[in-house]
Amino acid sequence: MTLLEVDNLKVTYQTDDDPVHAVNDVSFTIDEGVNYGLAGESGSGKSTVAEALLGLLPGNGTVERGTIEFDGKDLTSLSAAERRDVLWEDIAYIPQSAMDSLDPVMSTGDQIAQAIHTHRNVTDTKACERVRELFEIVGLDPNRVDDYPHEFSGGMRQRVTIAMALALEPDLIIADEPTTGLDVIVQDKIIDKILEIQERMDSSLLLITHEIGVIAETCDELSILYGGKVMEQGSVDNVLVNPTNPYTMGLKNSFPEIDEEDEDPVAIPGSPPNLNGEPTSCVFQDRCPFATDECGESHPDPVELPNRNHRSACHRVKESAQMRQAADDPET
Ligand code: ATP
Ligand code: MG
Repeated sequence: MTLLEVDNLKVTYQTDDDPVHAVNDVSFTIDEGVNYGLAGESGSGKSTVAEALLGLLPGNGTVERGTIEFDGKDLTSLSAAERRDVLWEDIAYIPQSAMDSLDPVMSTGDQIAQAIHTHRNVTDTKACERVRELFEIVGLDPNRVDDYPHEFSGGMRQRVTIAMALALEPDLIIADEPTTGLDVIVQDKIIDKILEIQERMDSSLLLITHEIGVIAETCDELSILYGGKVMEQGSVDNVLVNPTNPYTMGLKNSFPEIDEEDEDPVAIPGSPPNLNGEPTSCVFQDRCPFATDECGESHPDPVELPNRNHRSACHRVKESAQMRQAADDPET
């Protein structure tokens, strides 16, 4: 069963210069119980996608077109405020840098209790019980509910934000860079905890991260964004094992831990595209080692590949096997 269906979503930000086309015709579907990854470098539009879904775009951001269906309901017919109300019950959101935005002058337990009171008509005693239970679920000592954010480490503060997001037992958990800024061991623990909870609650997960290694370990399907466009999408097995898009190949080489061989990471040279105005060429053309003249003429439409659940937006997708070989072994 489909839980979330995003179709041709386009989001722009108004600025003093030209509008920024941050998310440009993005489509993806998350089925019930699926862990879905949204990957891409900084500025590719990942957080904008999440904020557009949740009706949380900043004032200068607008959904220009596209549809967002959640659990069969069309959310684009609702105002941003109505959408927030509908979604709060069903979707847990752990925003980027959530652990740094806890209220410093309120105890962590009170912050979670407040979130519960806002959406549920429960007594103080019931809310307190639930807070203790949530502390236990995320692996925090329930005797520390009266502690303030500064009394916890970064990893523990992130656990508090996860507890807050889970208070209402969501169908979908959206976690935006939940492990960025934490050390590697703590990162693993947080990811394990999110997965454990997600399985226990039988919810779906939308995991947003620039680290595709994390997605390889935790997700079933993914979309790879670049310059507001989906470059490649499908099952993790198809996309990350046999990438057909030079951007995915580059991104994969910059995170060697998911490769079998012990290679040094190689960052993709160049810088992200200018998002002012509609793309008149493939958004990755400037940085793509395989670009031809055709790539300068238009951004490619996504192509459905013959194997199941795999799409790629690349003018040279038919030559992907040769490109992959060259990307894996630049010496030849
Ligand atoms: P990161 O990995 O750094 O979190 P991201 O993939 O989440 O990046 P977004 O935050 O969605 O990227 O930003 C997408 C693009 O939109 C970027 O070019 C960014 O500079 C631009 N942008 C984001 N918010 C605004 C805003 N309020 N006004 C103008 N431009 C914005
Ligand atoms: Mg972001």
